[in-house]
Amino acid sequence: MREYGENAPIVPPEKTEEIDYSMRTSTGIVRSIDCLGRFVIPKEMRRHLQINEGDLLEVAVEQDKIVIRKYDKACVLCSSTDNLSTFNEKQICRDCLNKIKAAF
Ligand SMILES: [Zn+2]
Repeated sequence: MREYGENAPIVPPEKTEEIDYSMRTSTGIVRSIDCLGRFVIPKEMRRHLQINEGDLLEVAVEQDKIVIRKYDKACVLCSSTDNLSTFNEKQICRDCLNKIKAAF
């Protein structure tokens, strides 16, 4: 039985990997979310997508799904990851910057 709450044993993240609470279904892997809202992404999925410790992940709701994707800096207008410049902590690509310049 897994303990939750203030008195739950502190288990380092990698230790929780060894305790496999997952259940495979025909469409994927089912895992429980803990009392703090944490959910472990299966190691094989992280390895496949080259998601490593310290990487940033973007979480979004799309209709009735939660979509988690690796966060790469991208243009705020077109999502391109090429030729980025930073303005007010936002990324914008050279093409969009040129389009904006041409519009004014
Ligand atoms: Zn762009």
